[in-house]
Amino acid sequence: MKAHDGMYIGGEWRAAAGTDAIEVVDPANEQIIAHVPAGTAEDVDAAVRAARAALPGWAATPPAGRAARVAALRDVLVARKGEIAATVTAELGAPLPFSQAVHAGVPILVAGSYAELAASYAFEEKVGNSTVYAEPVGVVGAITPWNYPLHQIVAKVAPALAAGCTIVLKPAEDTPLTAQLFAEAVHEAGIPAGVFNLVTGLGPVAGQALAEHDGVDLVSFTGSTAVGKQIGATAGAAVKRVALELGGKSANVILPSADLAKAVGVGVANVMGNSGQTCSAWTRMLVHSSQYDEAVALAAEAAAKYGDRIGPLVNAKQHARVRGYIERGVAEGARLVAGGPEAPREQGYFVSPTVFADVTPEMTVAQEEIFGPVVSLIRYEDEDDALRIANGTVYGLAGAVWAGDDAEAVAFARRMDTGQVDINGGRFNPLAPFGGYKQSGVGRELGSHGLAEYLQTKSLQF
Ligand code: NAD
Repeated sequence: MKAHDGMYIGGEWRAAAGTDAIEVVDPANEQIIAHVPAGTAEDVDAAVRAARAALPGWAATPPAGRAARVAALRDVLVARKGEIAATVTAELGAPLPFSQAVHAGVPILVAGSYAELAASYAFEEKVGNSTVYAEPVGVVGAITPWNYPLHQIVAKVAPALAAGCTIVLKPAEDTPLTAQLFAEAVHEAGIPAGVFNLVTGLGPVAGQALAEHDGVDLVSFTGSTAVGKQIGATAGAAVKRVALELGGKSANVILPSADLAKAVGVGVANVMGNSGQTCSAWTRMLVHSSQYDEAVALAAEAAAKYGDRIGPLVNAKQHARVRGYIERGVAEGARLVAGGPEAPREQGYFVSPTVFADVTPEMTVAQEEIFGPVVSLIRYEDEDDALRIANGTVYGLAGAVWAGDDAEAVAFARRMDTGQVDINGGRFNPLAPFGGYKQSGVGRELGSHGLAEYLQTKSLQF
């Protein structure tokens, strides 16, 4: 795997200020595949200065000009799709077909959607005797996680570019090679020097320096709720804009009128995809008591079919953490009907697709985000009971409702405290706002709502 040994700042690869490096490990075989520089506050400062210097020119570029550059970026992502998929597979461990379809495919859709939005968005409107302008917020500090390494980057950088903002990105330490590839794509797309800058490094060092930097106007963070709380507090103290996309513990609610086999099958697949490392995964499956035993059998069968087709977890720490949660579930009285805490292979950070039955709403496995291939089946007695369980966590990121007809599912979904709900297996929509209620976050990504996060309004009266 090719790695740059510098930072992408001001349109060029520059030597890092320090000498520390981060090892990049292939989680499927535990081999070190590359090293990237571990950035310091000095690198972050250089990157923020470059972004600030580039801001007036980029903010003044007409929307059509910005749209053309975002479209060019999308085209480079298309041309380099194979390389992107291979890189994600190498550093995240996702099976190659999943990397091709999702890790490389979705960012192309999202970048394309922002090329169109940049060209069509109403950056100016008349309200009575006023003209209201939507202007870029300024310099964006973007901090991203490893689970969808390119998607998380594009979901921030594409709308920021469309809005006229400039950016400093600090990607996750586990997946820096994908971020370096993205920086190459930005360069190839002809995006002016300094508009996008990349600093690789550790969260508590480079990430924190970026979140605290006076020259950053908006911090956009995706990651754990624990770190998000810290970043929110830092931004609040500085009266700085902040967007937080955090954890989840989403409910898959199967109403008695639903097609049970389909709802359970899609529900298990939703959790097992990306080895369970999806913040919006429906990790709690809620089933009416009259159908519970049948659902448990169907879920166990669906999980067993996955066998060893799922990839490893991202690193040794997550491997230990997820297996610890499975042990905790057993200790608290949940019943394992597929998988378990034993590592299925000697090498690589693999966990077997795991299904827990007899899970009660207050158990740890029903409350905390596991971030692994583990689904918990919870029994409910009636709709109010299902709603109480569905809403009974600190999170509210996503969810699903299945019923005999969409109207019945929609009525239930409207009562859920969550930001996004799939009705009877609804398809992914790259324009639908994504983000959390409660402790799952602040703000929205994707589509025009995602673009609005990077804009501030000015009104002129006549
Ligand atoms: P994490 O919070 O540990 O790391 C996320 C990013 O923050 C990384 O780039 C990391 O280096 C950086 N970071 C860590 N400590 C920091 C600090 N003190 N200051 C500044 N930056 C810091 O999370 P993770 O383990 O990478 O990702 C898993 C978590 O992310 C899960 O909880 C998951 O639900 C959440 N997630 C949420 C979404 C969403 O859209 N809501 C999407 C993906 C992942």
